[in-house]
Amino acid sequence: MSHPDSFPARAVVDLDAIAGNVARLAGYARGAQVMAVVKADAYGHGLVPAAQAAQAGGATWLGVAQLAEAMDLREAGVAGRILTWIFSPGADLARALALDLDLSVGAPWALAEVEAAARATGRTPRVHLKVDTGLGRGGQFLPAWSDMLADALRAQAEGVLEVVGVWSHLASAEDVTSPVTDAQLEVFTEAVARAEAGGAHLEVRHLSNSAATIVNPAMRFDLVRPGLAVFGLSPVPGRASAELGLRPAMRVEAAVMLVKDARAGQGVSYGHTYTTAADTVLADIPLGYADGIPRHASNAGPMLLGGRVRRIAGRVCMDQVVVDLEGDRGVRAGDVAVLFGPGDDGEPTAQDWAEAAGTISYEIVTRLGARIPRVYTGTAGLPA
Ligand SMILES: *Cc1c(COP(=O)(O)O)cnc(C)c1O
Repeated sequence: MSHPDSFPARAVVDLDAIAGNVARLAGYARGAQVMAVVKADAYGHGLVPAAQAAQAGGATWLGVAQLAEAMDLREAGVAGRILTWIFSPGADLARALALDLDLSVGAPWALAEVEAAARATGRTPRVHLKVDTGLGRGGQFLPAWSDMLADALRAQAEGVLEVVGVWSHLASAEDVTSPVTDAQLEVFTEAVARAEAGGAHLEVRHLSNSAATIVNPAMRFDLVRPGLAVFGLSPVPGRASAELGLRPAMRVEAAVMLVKDARAGQGVSYGHTYTTAADTVLADIPLGYADGIPRHASNAGPMLLGGRVRRIAGRVCMDQVVVDLEGDRGVRAGDVAVLFGPGDDGEPTAQDWAEAAGTISYEIVTRLGARIPRVYTGTAGLPA
């Protein structure tokens, strides 16, 4: 967004909250290292500032899904270990090695391409072999994983690469009673044993996302990989951020564009799915689904405006939503509506929005539109 001062809304990101959350997660991790997962533009918070704040809070690793995101981090001058786990055949792995990235390998083709990039560049890739312990997504299931392990250890013996990690991802980490989680732990333990028996000198074994970091000590191993909790959102259903010692790092606010009187019986927004019950006052808020306000939050999404939490009236439009002020004449154009934040002033949270839209808080923050300017408060991670 090239003219942030002319945009009527902003996302205020508290860097100190990010650093504080990482420190809190390090406490849960009890000696395991913390990899702050900053994929998807740091869950919408801004990749580089969030990564640096996480490092200031004690994250010794950063994790991103896309290789391109890892490249962006390093090219922005971010130091330290960075792991990436999503790239497809033909990706520029020579560049990845030049940038000193750690690479996940979850398929035979990826191992072959990492080896080829190593031979072409003379560099020694650090590889984390991904085992599918039951999520049914990335990595190889155990029998095939063992074949991939054998190939990787052969390449290691030739001095082409180093197997530094074995890792996996959980299907139901937030549910401590899930038998799936127990089964995944068992498979993971077996994979690690096979790697070590085969001659791998593993630096890090890692399995835990935010939820497992907080609720499941058996899963922590050498390194935990929290994402959502780094940004202060709760990964544990039914437990609020504050209960877990976390602080939501983002506040989204918009300046009211228009306030006007409306008669009883006035249909509001496309399709007239809302009708005013009495003579009232309507406020027009300049954010819509193009900004990541879920259309599923039509007639439901909350915001703090004029000292009260009010809900969207009618459908969410591309660039605007309407709020029925229910006759309140205290709100003026230019007043600030807070859509979500940490909750300090009674504003809704990203979790409240998730519930209003039938989704999860992850989706609320990661889909926040790129055109909403990110503004930073706090100093964590900034140059002294
Ligand atoms: C996104 C992701 C994480 C972080 O998950 P949270 O639930 O946000 O903590 C960890 N590991 C992998 C592989 C991921 O894709």
